[in-house]
Amino acid sequence: MPIAAPRPESWLRPVPGGLYCGPGGFFIDPTRPVDRAVVTHGHGDHARPGNRHVLATAETLAIMRARYGADAGGSLQAAAYGEPVIVNGVSVTLVPAGHVLGSAQAVLEYRGSRVVVSGDYKRRRDPTCAAFEPQSCDVFVTEATFGLPVFRHPSDAAEIGRLLHSLRLFPERCHVVGVYALGKCQRVIALLREAGYDAPVYIHGALAPLCALYERLGVALGPLLPATGAGKEGLAGKIVLAPPGALADRWSRRLPDPVAALASGWMRVKQRAKARGIELPLVISDHADWDELTATLRDTGAPEIWVTHGNEEALVHYASGAGLKARALALVGYEDEES
Ligand SMILES: [Zn+2]
Ligand SMILES: [Zn+2]
Repeated sequence: MPIAAPRPESWLRPVPGGLYCGPGGFFIDPTRPVDRAVVTHGHGDHARPGNRHVLATAETLAIMRARYGADAGGSLQAAAYGEPVIVNGVSVTLVPAGHVLGSAQAVLEYRGSRVVVSGDYKRRRDPTCAAFEPQSCDVFVTEATFGLPVFRHPSDAAEIGRLLHSLRLFPERCHVVGVYALGKCQRVIALLREAGYDAPVYIHGALAPLCALYERLGVALGPLLPATGAGKEGLAGKIVLAPPGALADRWSRRLPDPVAALASGWMRVKQRAKARGIELPLVISDHADWDELTATLRDTGAPEIWVTHGNEEALVHYASGAGLKARALALVGYEDEES
C-alpha cells in the first residue's frame, strides 16, 4: 500500500518571521535573521541581511552582496534554475518567477507532497529577466499585491509609448521617471531601448550600482549617464530616472521644468498619482495583475491556494468560487509600495 503524502500544512507553516519548513529547518524570505534562509529575490522586504546560511540564485546573491556587503549572509549557496538542492530531506528547486533578475519560485517537495512558493511574480514578458514557469503542485503559495479585479495593467509598450509621446510634445522639458532601484529601473530602460530610444538615459546616483550589476550579469542597458553633473541645460528634453523618493525632494530642483512620471502598478489608482504630484503616471508593474493572478492559479492546477500578502481576501474569495481550497496566511513584513 502506498504511504500517503504528508499534508502540506504539517511541514510548511506561517510563523512570526515568515514561512517555515519544519523538517527542512529553513525559512523562505525570513523577515528576521535566521539560521537557514531560502530567498526568492533581491527586494529588501524578501532578501534581508544577517542570515547564517542563504540559498538563492546566483543573481539574487549578487544583488544581496551589492546591497549588504558582508551582511548578505554567513554562507551563500547559489542554486541554478531547475537544479534541486536537498535540505535536510526536503528538495528545494528554484524556477523563474519573472519578477526581477534572479527572481525565483521555490518548489518544495517532501515525501511526495509538493508546494510551490511563488515569491513575487508577474506573467508578462520582461526583457531583463527569465519568464515565470508554472509548476504543478498540491499547494500554490501566491502573493496578491494587485489582487483586486480593478487592477488590470495595460501593455508596458503602450505605457512607454506615452512617455516617448510626452517627450515629443514637450521637447524642452526634462522627463523624470520615478523607478524602484531593483528591477523597475532596468526594465524601463530596456523597454525604452526596445521602443527604439537609443539616446543616453540619465540616472540618479542611487540607481547606478544595480544598473552596473545588471550589465555585468548580461542585461544590456545601452548608454547611461549620471544625472548629476549633466547641468540643468543639459537635461532639457532628456529622460532622467530617479528613486521615487527623489521626485519630491531637493534633488529634483536641478531639473529643467520637469514632467514628473512614476512607473508603478499603483499608478492605476488616480488619487495616488495626484497625491504624489505625478503628472505622467505610468502603469508598469513587476507584479501580476488580477488576470495574471487568476490565470496562474489555473495554470498550476493546484487544488489548494495559500495567499501570503497583498489583497488576500479577494483572491481567496475568487479561488473558493473556482472550487479551490484557499486560505490567507496574512504574512507581515512584505511591503510592495513601489511595485
Ligand atoms: Zn519583489
Ligand atoms: Zn514583495
